[in-house]
Amino acid sequence: MREFLTQAQAAADSTTGGDGGRLPLGGMVDWEVFPFEREGLRSRPLVDYAVPEPDRRKAPEDCKTCTALGRDDLVLHTGERLAVIRPGGTSLPFVANVVSRTHEVLDDLGDDGHVELGRLIGRTYAALRALDGVGNVHVNKWENGTGHLSVTLLARPLGVLQLRGSNLPVWADMLPATPPEELAARADVVRAALARSVVE
Ligand SMILES: [Zn+2]
Repeated sequence: MREFLTQAQAAADSTTGGDGGRLPLGGMVDWEVFPFEREGLRSRPLVDYAVPEPDRRKAPEDCKTCTALGRDDLVLHTGERLAVIRPGGTSLPFVANVVSRTHEVLDDLGDDGHVELGRLIGRTYAALRALDGVGNVHVNKWENGTGHLSVTLLARPLGVLQLRGSNLPVWADMLPATPPEELAARADVVRAALARSVVE
């Protein structure tokens, strides 16, 4: 199973006009939603395998998700095994995370947990989609290495089509912060919507 990087590096080395053994830029650079211009952009050099992979999980006391679960202003809904929270800040109209109530990863969920995860993702998606000024909601599970299950839902501002798709978090990294009072007001709307969706 060590062919992957060998083949990737060979492709990088054989690139016409090569760039120090770096992979050539792909077609994504020419997408109108890609945040950067082709000129001056280069890929990072490939790095070697890390096998076995280091354990990057954090202890619960160092985990941002565990901390957020203890803050009423950041908790949007509490379910059986899972909950919905929001980050303390974002540059987007709203961001929510479907997370486990305890410090565990997706691999730890059984079938009941999977069912609850699906329901909560669907309900949270609907709640964010219904907010004023939201054009779409993107759903992602990146597993950020902390050891705490988190599915991230990102709301894109209505009409700002340049931010659409998989580059939305890259744009979000550059955009100015959304005022905290706006986020708090939207949190109340989402909290109420999630409470209603459970009753129905
Ligand atoms: Zn945690």
